[in-house]
Amino acid sequence: MKIGIPKAMLYYKYNVLWETFFTELGCEIILSENTNKKILNNGIIYSADESCLASKIYMGHIFSLIGKCDYIFIPRFCSFKNNDIICVKFNAFYDICSNVFDNINILTYDVDYLRGKSEFCGFLDMGKKLGASYMKTLRAYLIAKKKYKKQYKINVNNQNLFLEKSKKEDKLNILVVSHPYIVYDELLGKPIIIYLKKLNANLIYANVVDKKYIKNGWKNFSKTVYWEGSKELLSGLNNYLDSVDGIIFISVFTCGPDSLVNELCTRKLKEKACLNLILDELNSDTGIQTRLESFTDVLNDKKRIVLYG
Ligand code: SF4
Repeated sequence: MKIGIPKAMLYYKYNVLWETFFTELGCEIILSENTNKKILNNGIIYSADESCLASKIYMGHIFSLIGKCDYIFIPRFCSFKNNDIICVKFNAFYDICSNVFDNINILTYDVDYLRGKSEFCGFLDMGKKLGASYMKTLRAYLIAKKKYKKQYKINVNNQNLFLEKSKKEDKLNILVVSHPYIVYDELLGKPIIIYLKKLNANLIYANVVDKKYIKNGWKNFSKTVYWEGSKELLSGLNNYLDSVDGIIFISVFTCGPDSLVNELCTRKLKEKACLNLILDELNSDTGIQTRLESFTDVLNDKKRIVLYG
């Protein structure tokens, strides 16, 4: 059985969980390519104009998988254990894709704790649909979950070690506040990350943060933040704030949650230099690079003044 997984959106968060689960069930995984211009252009064709750029890219990935696998994997997320809500796009993809694309076989699971739908039950249902026994599915899920948690801890530990090392270096430490599907995407965040590294900056990622900080860390910015993804990023921001020279927010046009939350942060963070980048379909690399150069110049000047007066 071939399962097509779009390399976009929550793939960047749950890739280990999903890939391990399907592999343990004996499925072959067909991953879509890294985001490229063709994927983006097809995504634009199959999306409503007002959709955010990240969701347009997702549609392009789905289109690229059609005809290459038995099922295309499109999970549906709505609410989580602690009643957190996720951006409505993640609730809608299943329905949007089944309406927009003809003849696609979709494999899905629902996470909606407010309506009694847990991740565990969702994975059991998927196993059943794929013809696996209850015990085999249970085993696959437990192995996948363990591996996912282990990888999460490794990522957090690696970042903490990197941060300790980078504090001793004479380089800029910059915190990148962006959803994983933006910052790690080949077309969206990757060129920015590569350019910042060329400018000699050490990069810390707000999305890589110990789960224990996610409970309350975000409350220092606003007690009424609504979305799970925003809470996670704000908790990372709160955790790493004192260890960095500056902060770059990267979001996409027309993201509602980020337009509110990032604006709120830049207003509150008076002591730290912030750069707010909003990517759209027409962005030019040169325009972005000029802004990154100016920002790192400002940070370098500030650092020199603090060190040498
Ligand atoms: S949070 Fe923003 S970028 Fe992410 S899916 Fe929702 S609207 Fe798009």
